Amino acid sequence: MQSTPKAEAILAGDRRALAKAITLVESQRAEDRAAAQNLLNAVLPHTGASIRVGVTGVPGVGKSTFIESFGQHVIDQGHRLAVLAVDPSSPVAGGSILGDKTRMEKLSRSEAAFIRPSPAGRALGGVAFKTRESLLLCEAAGFDVILVETVGVGQSEHQVVGMVDFFLLLMLPGGGDELQGIKKGILELADAIVVNKADGESETLARITQQHYRGAMSLLNHGDVWEPSVMMCSALKGTGIDSIWQTICEYRRIADEKGTFDQARADQNLAWMRQLIDELLRTSLAQHPAVRAALPEIEAAVINARQTPLAAAEAVLELSRG
Ligand code: GDP
Repeated sequence: MQSTPKAEAILAGDRRALAKAITLVESQRAEDRAAAQNLLNAVLPHTGASIRVGVTGVPGVGKSTFIESFGQHVIDQGHRLAVLAVDPSSPVAGGSILGDKTRMEKLSRSEAAFIRPSPAGRALGGVAFKTRESLLLCEAAGFDVILVETVGVGQSEHQVVGMVDFFLLLMLPGGGDELQGIKKGILELADAIVVNKADGESETLARITQQHYRGAMSLLNHGDVWEPSVMMCSALKGTGIDSIWQTICEYRRIADEKGTFDQARADQNLAWMRQLIDELLRTSLAQHPAVRAALPEIEAAVINARQTPLAAAEAVLELSRG
């Protein structure tokens, strides 16, 4: 068995220790979970000093090309960048975003970058739960720009929004949202929409698409802190990348000024805790011997309309207290 990575090594920015620590938090074994929680608690005071950015878009929109280009840009500004890719592991999601060794080739060679896929699975806390903890470890190791990448077709976006400060949606030139495979709700989550591939013959179309999304976004209600921006870029040519970074910095400045930046993170943590309480309660209920024994009969009573769902739920809780 491998030794548990030390908090000091992570805080010193040791990438091997960081990689091992992430493996530890991803582990499903009970003893690893305890060690992971100890480690996370030890580094927790040293987390938070980053900007967390979610990046999503359908397969082929140019996410890895964008991250390569954007990542290099922020590194050139003196930042250290971590990329956590959430693998939807779903057959409908257009294939795994992991396992593709050629992704972000240049970035992965940079000392200032750390790239790590995050497995999904049915673990406690859902798809992106491990990503939250990995993100904290990256911050403790001194990475101050964190990108959380998802394929923008599934459920994981809602969870990613719950762990990032800024959510960026990449789009292709042309086509409506439906054609782009983007679910309606995702537009409402976006702090910025970026039409990628605004180069060559596609540039004009990208401009039209940008106008379309400006219109669409102006109809949505985004609250009074931030008006989402709609931009375009060419990840391939590197144009428009600096404005995107400037927009994110501007967002940070405004949110700090209005006091909503820290508040949003505090709210995210509370929501995360509440979700965990729900899940832990449900798990412990399902494991309770009396509940396990009686559940088939109680479920049958609900199916056959002999008992209301509420009465049945109360009966289950009553059993767990006994
Ligand atoms: P992902 O599946 O979202 O990660 O997309 P990739 O980054 O793998 O890009 C898909 C394809 O689009 C690749 O062939 C890229 O070279 C190409 N691509 C990505 N960004 C751009 C861009 O800005 N302009 C052009 N013309 N092609 C791009």
